[in-house]
Amino acid sequence: MTQVRVTCPQCGDIDLTIADLRGRICIETGHAEYRFTCTSCKMISVRESDPKTFEILTGAGIHFEPWHLPAELKEIRNGLVICHDDLIEFHNLVHNETDFANAIVALETTN
Ligand SMILES: [Zn+2]
Repeated sequence: MTQVRVTCPQCGDIDLTIADLRGRICIETGHAEYRFTCTSCKMISVRESDPKTFEILTGAGIHFEPWHLPAELKEIRNGLVICHDDLIEFHNLVHNETDFANAIVALETTN
């Protein structure tokens, strides 16, 4: 199994096998990164993978899982911006079961 040396921010250089690395790549941006769990401190580290590193890692057998940006980023936003008062009102609303139930009913009847 191919050995790789990675750097844990806490412990410094550690040796892992290629199977200990997990990669992912964004379909829309091409941004690639890999992660590993330190064998000493058990902390997960994530590292960006520049094109050269990506090529080396994929050549060594790491599968980069494809992922997409959230669809919400493409949503057209309109309407009022939520402010602190709205959050406080919402907080108070969800703390009172009767008010919350009434709000849900009101919401369902407007849609
Ligand atoms: Zn560590």
